Formats: sequence, C-alpha cells, structure tokens
Amino acid sequence: MAETKVSESQTKGSYSNELAGSKTGNITQVRGKYGKYGGQYVPEVLMPALEELEKGYERYKNDSKFIAELEHYLRDFAGRKTPLYFARNLSKKYGSKIYLKREDLVHGGAHKLNNAIGQALLAKYMGKTRLIAETGAGQHGTATAMVGANLGFETIVYMGAKDVKRQQMNTYRMKLMGTEVKAISTGSKTLKDAINEAFRDWVTNIVNTHYLIGSVVGPYPYPMIVRDFQSVIGREVKEQIMGKEGRMPDSIIACAGGGSNAMGIFHPFVEDKEVKLIAVEAGGKGLKCTEKAAFHSACLCAGEEGILHGALTKVLQDKNGQILESESVSAGLDYSGVGPELAYLAESRRVTALYATDDEAVEAFHELSRLEGIIPALESSHALAYLKKAAENGELGDIVVVNLSGRGDKDLETVLSFKRGI
Ligand SMILES: *Cc1c(COP(=O)(O)O)cnc(C)c1O
Repeated sequence: MAETKVSESQTKGSYSNELAGSKTGNITQVRGKYGKYGGQYVPEVLMPALEELEKGYERYKNDSKFIAELEHYLRDFAGRKTPLYFARNLSKKYGSKIYLKREDLVHGGAHKLNNAIGQALLAKYMGKTRLIAETGAGQHGTATAMVGANLGFETIVYMGAKDVKRQQMNTYRMKLMGTEVKAISTGSKTLKDAINEAFRDWVTNIVNTHYLIGSVVGPYPYPMIVRDFQSVIGREVKEQIMGKEGRMPDSIIACAGGGSNAMGIFHPFVEDKEVKLIAVEAGGKGLKCTEKAAFHSACLCAGEEGILHGALTKVLQDKNGQILESESVSAGLDYSGVGPELAYLAESRRVTALYATDDEAVEAFHELSRLEGIIPALESSHALAYLKKAAENGELGDIVVVNLSGRGDKDLETVLSFKRGI
C-alpha cells in the first residue's frame, strides 16, 4: 500500500520464469526481487491474495487452453500482431534506419490492452467475477473497461476526484462500457489515493475479485505478470526485424512511466547485449524538485529508493519520504514511481535511462505527425524526442526501433493549450 511499510515477504529462494518463449535470463534474483528492488510491502491480510495470484499464474501461463484463448483475444480483439513500420522520412532526416513498433494500432490506441487482456483472462480462469483497477489519466481504466465488458466481469475503476474531472472523455468511455467509476475525494484526490482505495477494496473482496494493475509496478508477482503479458511486443519485434534486416537492431527506445511498454519491448532483448536499450522518462519542465512537487516524472533519473504501490523502487519523494506528485505534459507518464525490474536494469546499466522535457516531447509530436502522417501519443513522443538528441551526438546507431506505445488523438487538446502557453 502506498507509503506504508507493513510487512515484507520472506525470500523463498531463487526462481526462474518463462512465458511462451520469454526468459528472465541471467538476472540473479530471489523471489520477487530485482536486485534490491521489488518485493511485497503490503499488509499481512493481502499476502494470501498475492500467493493465490502467483499460483494461478504459474498454473495457467503454460496451459494450452489458456494460451490459445489469449492468442485469440490478442489477434481478433486487440488486432495483433502490430506492424513494425519503416519510417522512411524520419530515417532520411536522421540518417539511420528508424522503425516504429505500431502499438498505437492496438484496439483502444495503446499497448495497455495487451496486459488487460492477459490479466482479465487469468482472472476468469481463476474463477473471479469482479475486476477492480485504478487509473490516473484514464487509459488503463479504459483498457480494463474494455476487457471487463467483453469477458463479462463486474468492473469497478477507482479514480481520484481531480482526475475524474480532468479526464472526462475517458470517464465517459468507461461508463459507456458498463464500468462503475468511483471518484475518490480523500487526500490529494489523485492516483495515489485511488491506489489506496483499490487495495482496500481488494482486501475486503478477495474471494471474487481480481485487482488488475496497469503497469509493471505493485507487489510481486505483478511486475513479472505485466512484463510477461507485454513481452509480446518485444517478441514480435525480434521476429520482424530479423525478417526485414536479418539482424538485431542497434538500439531500442521506449518511453517509461511505470515502465510496462519499455519492459515489454526490452525483455526479449535483455540477453542480447549488443542491443542498446534506452528508456526515456518525462522530464517535465526540466528537472526540478521542491518539497511539495516534482516538476517532472523522471524516477529512474532523479528518484530515490522508497516504497510505492507495495514495492521498493525508485520514487519521487521529499526528505521525509512523502511521495511527491509528478508533473508532465503527458498524463500517462505522470506516475511517481517506476517498475522495480526497470529500476534494477537501469541501476545495473543494462538499460540507459534518460529524460525528455515537455518542450522536446511536443516538438517530436509535431515532427512525427508532419513527416510520417502518424500522430503519436505524448507519452511516446518522449521516446521519439531522443532521436534528435542521439543523432546530434552521433549515438543513434544504424538500425533503431522506437516503441510507438500509443496514438495521439487523445492529446490534441493538451497540445493545443500547450502551444498557447496555457
Ligand atoms: C500509459 C501509457 C504509457 C506509460 O505507461 P508504461 O507502463 O510506462 O508503458 C506510455 N504510453 C502510452 C500510450 C500510455 O497509454
């Protein structure tokens, strides 16, 4: 639970995990830990639920019926596999071969549905009838509402009262699909309060409820489960780039909020040491921190060790360990923590962590729209912004893959008011 260290699970020795061809590789880890990050910092009453989830996942992830149904939904509901698109004009401009992984074409307009489908299906196999989720910008709530409607769950999404107001379209979308949106008016009325409410609900309704977490965050086993369900992105890229180029890319670039689209595209390449993995965080107005707020959301670059969402990771916090509210032009990157495995990979230097500012992201948003006729999500625009910097420094490499995590239609108003300086 956010900010409260209640208990930590014991380490039960090492484990290895595999899902349909994705390997953990040689990352040495004890159960639920990535180096020192991760774990289960939750109230004792939640431990049985986490154990049940872990057992359920271990049981079904290799079950042929489960895998066949998962593949069916990914293909016919979500629209996979997504193309790996050679961006000819962008490539010409920067003098490298630049490929875009088109997660913007997934149903709903972003990668989030990959994970929502996986978890909802798992919940169904585990006999659950009710889904709960929390959401800040509303995009994960929307993905949850989609699978909730399609698979016949009672679906409840917790959302800070401030966010409900800020994200009226997503709130309406969720309601259209039969989801109950519960506005939380306690605390700062934003995501972290919604997270607390979701945990509270789960404790009370463990028997019939699955808590569908939207990124590679939260207590173990969530970071692993979400990463595995999102790794379909990286597995497809590997096959596609081998088909088009006959070799591995020199670098893969992804934006990082909680880190799920980054871990999803990186994970199948972690062992391929020649491939540079680059995570671009939201640098907001530039990296500044006060006691009350962080003017950015760059946890890998500027966070410190702390507990958020039931895991030890890198979080934005003040001197007293109070979580700072992050700030970014892109609501989907506005999370005060980052997934523990990504924190570990960045610390061990397998992943390079950088940030792009609001200005740079908005510039990249315009650039891709003009050059390629593709309007990217503002989140993804942070990854695209790195292309310019890297090309200037001669660091781009010959073959580059950018994860285009989502489409930008949802961001038009934000970009319009940003231009007007509002
Ligand atoms: C939510 C979202 C993100 C950030 O979440 P991650 O878990 O870091 O991937 C990035 N891009 C888009 C389009 C999103 O909707």
